[in-house]
Amino acid sequence: MASVLWLQGGACSGNTMSFLNAEEPNVVDLITDFGLDLLWHPSLGMELGKQAQKIFWDCAQGKRPLDIFVFEGTVMMGPDGTGRYDMFADRPMKDWVTDLANAAQIVVAIGDCACWGGIPATEPNPTDSTGLQFHKRERGGFLGPDFRSKMGLPVINIPGCPAHPDWITQIIVALATGRAGDIALDELHRPQTFFKTFTQTGCTRVQFFEYKQPTTSFGEGTRTGCLFYEFGCRGPMTHSPCNRILWNRQSSKTRAGMPCTGCTEPEFPFFDLAPGTVFKTQKVSGMIPKEIPEGSDHLTYMAHAAAARIAAPQWSKEDMFVV
Ligand code: SF4
Ligand code: SF4
Repeated sequence: MASVLWLQGGACSGNTMSFLNAEEPNVVDLITDFGLDLLWHPSLGMELGKQAQKIFWDCAQGKRPLDIFVFEGTVMMGPDGTGRYDMFADRPMKDWVTDLANAAQIVVAIGDCACWGGIPATEPNPTDSTGLQFHKRERGGFLGPDFRSKMGLPVINIPGCPAHPDWITQIIVALATGRAGDIALDELHRPQTFFKTFTQTGCTRVQFFEYKQPTTSFGEGTRTGCLFYEFGCRGPMTHSPCNRILWNRQSSKTRAGMPCTGCTEPEFPFFDLAPGTVFKTQKVSGMIPKEIPEGSDHLTYMAHAAAARIAAPQWSKEDMFVV
């Protein structure tokens, strides 16, 4: 039976909500079928006050074995490095994080905030927030670049704003059943099984992307065209399985006519949320996308785009989905 302790730092609880929405397995299945010993969780823990504090201290002091320490939200360092912006169980949360990360066999960061700081760490970052082992794309974060858990692993990052329920539960199940060694991580410590492909992989608009056919409006009911050219879709440069492992088992942002905003990448939210940068493709010379699909360069992209537009068949300019 693997013991799991889940704490929240600077967070909106979005990843907890996502976790509670898990279906295959759901949270009860995790406990009954996969033998998860959920020591405490902010929304599920039964203990309060001193009783809860005893669990944390017992884990921190090694009196109670802690297999998996899950952290959601940022580590708040402010003000002035005291961590007192986020007090929890009579201590700055950052002190709990230090003790519990060092006591755990495995440490898992759930969601952008815990992975790399997310929205709270966006400049001017008033709470001096950071991620567990990254600050945006820079290695380090709160625990430092060389941190390794007792099992010798770096922090396992499951990003997203929020992370999909399946990304969370499948990794927790793998860890709880002793398969940590099977989880290949990328250079940002993300499990490759989820984060090697792009949001674009499996997108129903990819044929419009291939023929460089834009959509002119977004939202519900928009079925034709690709959101890359006008609406800032980051699908070709965002590593996520959102069109392979669908949300609510039935859809994704791009399928619903909304651009991918790149929430699994450390730079999210891009452009510091400046007016006119969200849902809008940033362009050079008014027409060339400033950011192009990963692995391409501007010259090659432009040549390919010009040829694709010339070759575009009529169907790629029409609604091909018939209901
Ligand atoms: S750019 Fe976005 S909308 Fe277009 S095909 Fe890629 S993921 Fe789909
Ligand atoms: S489609 Fe993009 S923004 Fe939406 S959840 Fe997936 S990676 Fe995040």
